[in-house]
Amino acid sequence: MPVSAGPRGAADQPSLAGRVALVTGASRGLGAAIALGLAARGAAVAVNYHASRARAEEVVRAIEDEGGKAVALPADVADPDACAELVAGTIANLGGLDVLVNNAGITKDSLIYQQEPADWLAVMRVNFGGVVNCTRAAMGTMLRQRSGSIVNISSVMGIRGWVGESPYAASKAAINAFTRCTAVEAARFGVRANAVLPGFAATDLVAGLTTKNGGRGILRQIPAKSFAGPEDVANVVAFLAGPGAAYMTGSLVTVDGGASAVLGVGAPLG
Ligand code: NAP
Repeated sequence: MPVSAGPRGAADQPSLAGRVALVTGASRGLGAAIALGLAARGAAVAVNYHASRARAEEVVRAIEDEGGKAVALPADVADPDACAELVAGTIANLGGLDVLVNNAGITKDSLIYQQEPADWLAVMRVNFGGVVNCTRAAMGTMLRQRSGSIVNISSVMGIRGWVGESPYAASKAAINAFTRCTAVEAARFGVRANAVLPGFAATDLVAGLTTKNGGRGILRQIPAKSFAGPEDVANVVAFLAGPGAAYMTGSLVTVDGGASAVLGVGAPLG
C-alpha cells in the first residue's frame, strides 16, 4: 500500500507562525539571513543593528515585501541597558518575544604577545557580553510565559585553536559554556537554549580569510570544500528556534562542512 502524504494540515503551517523573534546584529551577514529565514517561516522579526541602520531597514523592507512583519531596532549589545530597551522595544512593537537569536559579533585578530588589552575586552564585551545582556533581558518574559527558544551564534573557533583568534575564540567558548548553563537553568520553565557553531561563511567578518588567494588556504581544510552560505546557517537556526527541536536544549550544533571534524589535511588512500 503506498504511503499517503496525508491531508494538508498542521505540517504545512509555517513552523514559526504567530511567533516573535529578536535577532541581534541582523543588519548584515549571517544575522540578516537568519532574520529573513525566521520571517520566511512565519515569525515577526525585530532586526537589531548597531551602526548599519540603512541596511537593517533594507532587511525589514525585504521581509515586508514578502508579506511579513518586522521592525528595525538599534542597540549596542555590549550595553546591558540598551539590551533591556531592545527587548522592551521588540515586545512593544511586535507583541511578545518567543525566539532570541544572539548573533551580533566582532573580531579583533592579533597575536597574543601583540594584543592590546582594550581589544580582547571589546571582543568579550560584544560577543560574550551581548549574549549575557540580551539573555538576561529576555529571560524574565520567557520564564513567565513558560516558553521560549534562545539560539546563540557561537563558532567552531570556540572549540578549536587558530593563530590570531584568541580573543574571539575565548569569547565563543564562553558563549558555549553560557549556553549550557542557560539551558540547565531554564529547562524546567519550558525555555530552551542552544548554540550554532558556524565554520567559515563568506561575510564581512572573515573577508580577510575567505578572499585571500581566492580562499584556497581555508578551503583545503574544509572537507566540504566550500564556505557556508548564510542560509546554511540560517536554516539550522530556524530549526533550533522552532517546534521541530522541542527536545533539544544545551546543544552545540556545528554547521561547518566538516571543518571541526577533520584532524588535518590528508591525501586520499591509494
Ligand atoms: P558581519 O557580517 O560582520 O555582521 C556582524 C553583525 O553584528 C552586523 O549586523 C553588526 O551590526 C552587528 N554588530 C556588531 N557589533 C555590534 C554591537 N555592539 N551591537 C549590536 N550589533 C553589533 O558578521 P557575520 O559573519 O555575519 O557574523 C555574525 C555572527 O556569526 C557573529 O557572532 C560571528 O562571530 C558568527 N560567526 C561567523 C562566521 C563567519 O564565517 N562569518 C563563522 C562563525 C561564527 P552593524 O553593522 O549595525 O554594526
